[in-house]
Amino acid sequence: MRRAPLASALEAIVGRDAVVDRPEALSVYDCDGYTLERSAPEIVVLPGTPEEVAAVVRCLAASKTPFVPRGAGTGLSGGTLPVGAPVMICTSRLTRIETIDVPNRRAHVQAGVVNAAITRAVEAHGLLYAPDPSSQPACTIGGNVAENSGGPHTLKYGVTTNHVLGVELVLPTGEVVELGGPVEDRPGYDLIGLTVGSEGTFGIVTRAWVRLVRAPEAVRTLLAVFGTVEAASEAVSDVIAAGVVPAALEMMDQLIIAAVEDAFHVGLPLDAGAVLLVELDGPAAGLDDELDRVTAVCRDAGAREVRVARDDTERALLWKARKRAFGAVGRLARNYCTQDGVVPRTRVPDILRRITAAAERYQLRIGNVFHAGDGNIHPILLFDERDADEVSRVLAAGREILEACVALGGSVTGEHGIGVEKIGQMPLLFSPDDLAAMQAIRGVFDPERRANPHKIFPDALVCVETRAPRRQVPL
Ligand SMILES: Cc1cc2nc3c(=O)[nH]c(=O)nc-3n(C[C@H](O)[C@H](O)[C@H](O)COP(=O)(O)OP(=O)(O)OC[C@H]3O[C@@H](n4cnc5c(N)ncnc54)[C@H](O)[C@@H]3O)c2cc1C
Repeated sequence: MRRAPLASALEAIVGRDAVVDRPEALSVYDCDGYTLERSAPEIVVLPGTPEEVAAVVRCLAASKTPFVPRGAGTGLSGGTLPVGAPVMICTSRLTRIETIDVPNRRAHVQAGVVNAAITRAVEAHGLLYAPDPSSQPACTIGGNVAENSGGPHTLKYGVTTNHVLGVELVLPTGEVVELGGPVEDRPGYDLIGLTVGSEGTFGIVTRAWVRLVRAPEAVRTLLAVFGTVEAASEAVSDVIAAGVVPAALEMMDQLIIAAVEDAFHVGLPLDAGAVLLVELDGPAAGLDDELDRVTAVCRDAGAREVRVARDDTERALLWKARKRAFGAVGRLARNYCTQDGVVPRTRVPDILRRITAAAERYQLRIGNVFHAGDGNIHPILLFDERDADEVSRVLAAGREILEACVALGGSVTGEHGIGVEKIGQMPLLFSPDDLAAMQAIRGVFDPERRANPHKIFPDALVCVETRAPRRQVPL
């Protein structure tokens, strides 16, 4: 079958198999991890090299065609939804780690490199790539840069922006620019800081220089078991107040424990109200003292049991339970929507109370698995997409929870980005002047608004209330 002229032009750049335009194949790309809204692009193009990405973008620029970048599609705010962008550019073939510079602790990687692959490639040298989103076996560095992703260990190590030294960016004109580079502390404006977290609205990141950190000499991992969520969340503040900064401090509540236990049989106590997973790392000397302090703090806060992982196998099992918790939730309901908000750490007990109240008021089941040490909550709202009334209650409860985060001094996203999902909440945090200033900055990179259009900022096309599951986004 003959292809449409644009698909043919793209095929001439990347080859026949790297252009997808059959409807049944396109449906694979109709959503990311945010499944409440779906819309397939008209064409998906999969360049094999960064240079092909630039050529593809130049081709699109010639016809002023908007496009949406996509990595692995694990995003949770609908950032890859092709709203007003008929072409999706997918980086999944850009998987080369081009340089590993052990003495200078940095690596140069293509955008489609999977997060966990970097650590695998450098661990023999005693190094690791610190940002560790729970999706790290699948998500790409390009996606991490776009979302400024975090993870359990970012409590101590910082988020993506703290680990990116430079990026190669294909601007929407197809021009390739280098922002930053392998060298630390460049003078001038921090354009990398601007680009990290820009959700694909500046163009497509094709390569990144990332920092590598030394793997800790020793690690201690413990699981503290609490009767109630309140007691566990009080313990979170108490641990930090005791002067300890754990590498990770994560919480799972009863609903999540049940799902995880059913899936992985880790031995989590099914009658617990909540568990805290605490990891300490650093020089071996003194680490056991820290462990004793954290154990004592947890017991004082009401932990009925504190288990310390005896070896790497037990530690890995605990982390498997935590990092795969989202997947395990699939056992609880046909659909779920993960929210992402932030509150000051000391307000974690307050926001959890508000989530419980919202669950009762909207008659929903809501589980919590989150980066408690960062105050970064992830309530998981369970639903069945065939039940329109339940979907509308999920949306209302989600909105209410985010509003509560802001009211408590926090933010509407900790790490999943705004995408399409949270556009309506941007005015909760920013004045019209703030938003106009951000749009002006965006205009420097993308004056025609063709790179991932209709994301982050409120505008007419996406300010439609989501009322039903699988709403087709207007193209
Ligand atoms: C089970 C699960 C657990 C998760 N856990 C975490 C977590 O702990 N922490 C966390 O922060 N997130 C988490 N996420 C969310 C998600 O994995 C991250 O946002 C991740 O960075 C997305 O990467 P991706 O490659 O899948 O990007 P995609 O989903 O493909 O894209 C995400 C956004 O980035 C843009 N984009 C992608 N590639 C590029 C590029 N090369 N250049 C420019 N823009 C680009 C897209 O347009 C889109 O706006 C989780 C998701 C799932 C499903």
